Amino acid sequence: MFESLSERLGGVFERLTKQGALSEDDVRTALREVRVALLEADVSLPVARDFVARVQEKATGQSVTRSVTPGQQVVKIVNDELTATLRGEGDPGALKIDSPPAPILMVGLQGGGKTTTTAKIAKRLAERERKRVLMASLDTNRPAAMEQLAILGQQIGVDTLPIVPGETPVQIARRAKAQAALAGYDVYMLDTAGRLSIDEELMAQVEAVRDVASPRETLLVVDGLTGQDAVTTAENFDERIGITGVVLTRMDGDGRGGAALSMRAVTGKPIRFVGTGEKLDALETFEPERIAGRILG
Ligand code: GDP
Repeated sequence: MFESLSERLGGVFERLTKQGALSEDDVRTALREVRVALLEADVSLPVARDFVARVQEKATGQSVTRSVTPGQQVVKIVNDELTATLRGEGDPGALKIDSPPAPILMVGLQGGGKTTTTAKIAKRLAERERKRVLMASLDTNRPAAMEQLAILGQQIGVDTLPIVPGETPVQIARRAKAQAALAGYDVYMLDTAGRLSIDEELMAQVEAVRDVASPRETLLVVDGLTGQDAVTTAENFDERIGITGVVLTRMDGDGRGGAALSMRAVTGKPIRFVGTGEKLDALETFEPERIAGRILG
């Protein structure tokens, strides 16, 4: 197990007094530990450095009351700053799905959890918001992926667009749009094809689909355990396609969630949900406090 930040800082500040203000030196010593904790949690180096510099500025000169130790004080400042950085604007769980049929475009690399997350979000919208949802798989390269979405749809009682062999992703997107309008769905979700890595063909395809659908939300699904790779993927998709939010999957794993901080710092896009398991109700609205606690250990 990792040593928690409080434990680390407890040691650092053992010999310091309980009163007075935090000196620049005190803070610098403490923040060395903070930086190590962030790096251990898989936060990228530039992001960790920048974060620590901000905390240094905020913490220096802050008075420490009798009731807390300087260590606790620094932990609180770090925690507040971490939470503020992780928090996007508005409610992460509130998807823009007014003016039906509202299109949601799901993008990401293969294996990141895109199809599963599509079904999880559909289930949530159907159950919690009583929305009529239509899901469509655009993964024409992998018939198994199209089947997978149909099966998930049956499991959660959400309709999927019937599969018509031979159609292109753009044709499927057009059909989903027309069907959603005709049959009065509130939302239609397009589960785009994934690739093992980002390539021009994938991006051109997703772009063409985006232009057909004009999505209200474009959610990037990435494996939260892949750290810096997840951040690079997000940068690439955002630059080319424009994303409105991120879903981090596999947050039930051992990862410390540092990717979340790097993701926010680098892309500026809000994290909307986290996937916490394979089951179709294992999806939680992103809570900055929770991830902050996990990063700090
Ligand atoms: P896609 O290729 O991006 O569509 O990925 P899939 O949706 O097919 O998911 C790949 C695998 O990851 C499947 O076995 C899913 O059950 C699993 N998976 C997806 N999300 C999560 C998650 O949040 N936690 C865990 N533990 N597994 C997940």
